[in-house]
Amino acid sequence: MADARIRRAHMRKARTLFRKGSRRGAAGRAASHRGAVTAAEAVIADGVAYVAAVSARSGRRKPTEEPVFVPEHTFSDFDINEHLKKNILARKYELPTPIQDKAIPHALLGQDVVGLAETGTGKTAAFLIPLIDKVMKQKGERILVMAPTRELAVQIEKELAGFARGLGFRGMVAVGGANIGPQISQLKHEPAFVIGTPGRLKDLMERRALNLSGFGTVVLDEADRMLDMGFIDDMRFILGKMRKERHTLFFSATMSKDIERLIGDFLTSPVVISVKKRDTPSSVDQDVVRIPSGKDKFEVLAEMLKDRAFSRVLVFGRTKFGVEKLAKALSRRHIHAESIHGNKTHGARIRALEAFKSGKVSVLVATDVAARGLDIPAVSHVINYDLPSTYEDYIHRIGRTGRATLKGKALTFVQGR
Ligand code: AMP
Repeated sequence: MADARIRRAHMRKARTLFRKGSRRGAAGRAASHRGAVTAAEAVIADGVAYVAAVSARSGRRKPTEEPVFVPEHTFSDFDINEHLKKNILARKYELPTPIQDKAIPHALLGQDVVGLAETGTGKTAAFLIPLIDKVMKQKGERILVMAPTRELAVQIEKELAGFARGLGFRGMVAVGGANIGPQISQLKHEPAFVIGTPGRLKDLMERRALNLSGFGTVVLDEADRMLDMGFIDDMRFILGKMRKERHTLFFSATMSKDIERLIGDFLTSPVVISVKKRDTPSSVDQDVVRIPSGKDKFEVLAEMLKDRAFSRVLVFGRTKFGVEKLAKALSRRHIHAESIHGNKTHGARIRALEAFKSGKVSVLVATDVAARGLDIPAVSHVINYDLPSTYEDYIHRIGRTGRATLKGKALTFVQGR
């Protein structure tokens, strides 16, 4: 218990520092006396100190401080289509995750739901399962899903295809960066699910290719990210064109004044479910890699990646240009690396992601924006080659490893003086 309190205190401090954007806050000043570089380093170093303290006291690190979650339901308890149940089992989902356990019964009743949950919690299936069932029960029902990035939209569509196998309807992806012509053609077939980014959805509406009058249900996935990315006007435009009596499911990792306003304006008496319970996943070991002054951090990275334990590594860089350059430099060293960032076309990003997922390349270099919401199984290491600029980015980055039942490691490069 005391350990959990210490950890929470560290994380509160970390969050305050990053929120203020302070590189020279109280801890930053203290850190610089100890020879640290920025407040960001002080924060991560504090985390490491905590891990060291726990290890010293207990002899080894506690595997977890979280109580084991016991769901109230099994998937077979839900009053859903039998074929859908088989598809869920075929995907090897045995028990609902907390967000699924709590959200699915309400969504099945047609209630509006606000789910405060991050990626990695199973939130995608929490909305797909009840909505696929809805499409099966109410013929002609159409569902709009808004997501912040093209990659997340593609990922949702893939999950949909798995759950909806053999059910006789289809979904489509409507995202920017891809040719709009084929999307217009697909919309003519009136797919049951349209999954898209707000900018492209609005574009399709303005071209009269997408008419929302037939859509009775909308999902906003990662609403906070959509706000961060400046989609608020597009989101309001799209929601404003839907009918007032509709079913709305709203997911966000965080709650803010803007998010509250959006919920107040567009949802009706929603059930609020929060499964956000920890700052950093306990399945991720965090450490700092101090780069001695005069040493090139690229050399440190290249050396590190030769170790076979670094089997599937996600490396974060700050800029699109830097990410591209780093992936190329690694490839020149015969370390197979791909990159994803906003200067790449949608197709090139998907190809890079697939090469990484299938193991064709062992390293993926990414910007924060491009990697948002991605679910990549079995990432062995996350490396913060460049420091994240906010605490939230740090948490999002390291959350890419240690998913499901696996352990992961997050390493943060810090340049010495
Ligand atoms: P999400 O938070 O929706 O991105 O899901 C994270 C990962 O967990 C995905 O790979 C899902 O396929 C997986 N997942 C979601 N729900 C379950 C479940 N009930 N059992 C096993 N895996 C799940």
